[in-house]
Order: sequence, then structure tokens, then C-alpha cells
Amino acid sequence: MADTRQRRLAEFIEPFRVKPGSKVKLGRDFDAAFKAGVKSKKAGVALLEEGVRLLAEYQERLAAQDTWGVLVVLQALDAAGKDGTIRHVMSGVNPQGVDVHSFKVPSAEELNHDFLRRYAQCLPARGEVGIFNRSHYEEVLVVRVHPENLDRQKLPTASKRGDIWKRRYREINDWERYLTDNGFRIVKLFLNLSKEEQRIRFLRRLDLPDHNWKFSAADVREREHWGEYQKAFSEMLSHTSTERAPWYVIPADRKWYGRLSAGAVLVHTLMEIDPRFPTVSKAQHQALLDVREALEAQAPKGAAPDPFEERERAAKAATDGQRDGQPAKQAGEPAAAE
Ligand code: AMP
Ligand code: MG
Repeated sequence: MADTRQRRLAEFIEPFRVKPGSKVKLGRDFDAAFKAGVKSKKAGVALLEEGVRLLAEYQERLAAQDTWGVLVVLQALDAAGKDGTIRHVMSGVNPQGVDVHSFKVPSAEELNHDFLRRYAQCLPARGEVGIFNRSHYEEVLVVRVHPENLDRQKLPTASKRGDIWKRRYREINDWERYLTDNGFRIVKLFLNLSKEEQRIRFLRRLDLPDHNWKFSAADVREREHWGEYQKAFSEMLSHTSTERAPWYVIPADRKWYGRLSAGAVLVHTLMEIDPRFPTVSKAQHQALLDVREALEAQAPKGAAPDPFEERERAAKAATDGQRDGQPAKQAGEPAAAE
């Protein structure tokens, strides 16, 4: 059952995966309105619910095993649905095991360090799922589209010589390789929105009073750099999708499909990790039995040595009685007539 599910998931997410080494051109290679693999929105929403349940289960096992950590990297253009994706996909997960970080314009203090440091400081621990809402990839996206960001980084001249973006791709790949070698899996999701759908979503933010707070004039200004961003995203995808940490281009024009697809990639990664609850060795088991014996011996006069065992015995006697055609009589309740 789990194997069939894993195979189905692998097939579902395959069209989103950026093949390592391939040269991506976003508009040509990926359709923001893609929605294959699901019959209808209703079916998709039901599948996401199933995915959320699975995520909760796997996250619990991940935490119990305490060996692997998972970092989810979310990149997108404005209004592509990063916040909604986090809200929906992680809705069933124990908040103690999840850590979300949003990255904004770097502070003066952050600019005093190497470019990866502020991201490294927010990495998840083993057993955790960390989410980067924007990430180290901004360093080859917004910083590239607006070079004044790079000027603020106070780099020595030698560090700006040659192709700085190619160098950053390599540095990012090296860093991610280091992290995966150390037991941290990286799930990289790019929410791919079309220019027309972005226009519609901005208009919606203006039209609906409840959505006004989300509207930012800066977002509309960024839209003027659409072509440059598409190019920067395409190059980022081409150079940093690796076997260990591949990119997935998530079709985001339909919110429900984007959320489902993002959830599917995350569940698939957790299935690959296949975290297990720790097993108890023979010696540990014996130690537990010894403790139990000691605790039972401490029961006060008249108290059951183990009230749980007592309750279980009573419950079992009741069900056995029912099976034998003698309905269990509960206090204050007349026995059901046959
Ligand atoms: P938001 O995610 O809408 O709250 O906006 C965060 C803003 O921070 C965006 O405009 C990003 O472009 C900007 N930002 C994030 N990371 C960086 C970075 N490394 N350098 C410059 N700007 C950044
Ligand atoms: Mg914004």
C-alpha cells in the first residue's frame, strides 16, 4: 500500500522536477496552468487532505527518529501563493516540529557577514521540518535583478570579478551538498505563476477590502521586471537543480493544484526518508519491566498496582461478554434487549 502510494506520488510529481543539468527556459518548459493527474478541484482538495494527514504522521516519525531534518525552500514571484501554501500544506502538522522563517531585505548586521550566514542560522534541527519563505536563492534573484543589493553587500573587488552568479550557484550547490551529506534533505519548490494570473491576483487585492493589506505598490513595481525575473529564475533552475536537491516547478495558477503539488513533493521526500520510531532493544525492554515492577510495588493499600492494566482487563471482559451474547451492563444503563 505504502509502495503503491509512493509510486503514484513519484509519477505525479515527475513533470515538476527539473532534471539536473538541463537548461530551463521557464515560459517554454513549464506551464503555470498545468493540472494533469487530478480529475477535478474537488478530487484535488480531498487528495490534499489525505496528504496533510500523511505529513502529520511522517513528521511525528521524523521527530521520533531524530536523525534527519528537512528544509523546504519556497521561492516565487509576488502573489504566487507562498503564504497560502505554507498555511494549507502544514495545517495538520504539530507546530513543535515545524519552523518557518521569512527572509526580508537583509539588515546592516546581516550585511556584515558572508551571504549564506543568515540562512545557515535558521536551518532546522534533526527531527524538524524547516520552511524558508524566500531563501538563500534571493541572493541570485532579487540581488541579481537589482544590483544595488549587491553593492550593499560590501564585497571586496576580487569577489565581484568574473561571473559572480555562476560562482554563487556553485557555492549554493556546495552548501546544499554539505547539508544533505549531514542528513538534511532539501525540498526546493518554485511556485510558477503566469503574468496574467499575477495581474488578476493584484486586482483582487485591490477589489476586496479584506485583501487590501496584502497589496503592496512595491509588488507592482517588481512586476515591471517580469522578464528579468523569468531569466534569473530560469538560470537559477538550470544551475542549481541537483540529484540530491532537485528543484520542482509547481504550477501555481490554480491555488488548489499548487498546494496539492507542493504537499505531494514534501510527502514524497518524507516517504523516501522513511523515518521510523526507535525500536526498544531487549536490554531496554527488560529495564522497562524492572521499573514497572518497582512502581507496582509502591501501590498504596487497596489501590490497583497498575490502574491501566486493570481498566484494560475490565474493558476486555466487557467486549468478550458482548461477543458471547451477554451485553455488558454499564452503570446506570439498562442492558440492551436482544
Ligand atoms: P515579502 O516576502 O513580501 O514580505 O517581502 C520581502 C522583501 O524582501 C521582498 O521584496 C524581497 O525581494 C526582499 N528580499 C528578500 N531577501 C533579500 C535579499 N537577500 N536581498 C535583498 N532583498 C531581499
Ligand atoms: Mg510581498
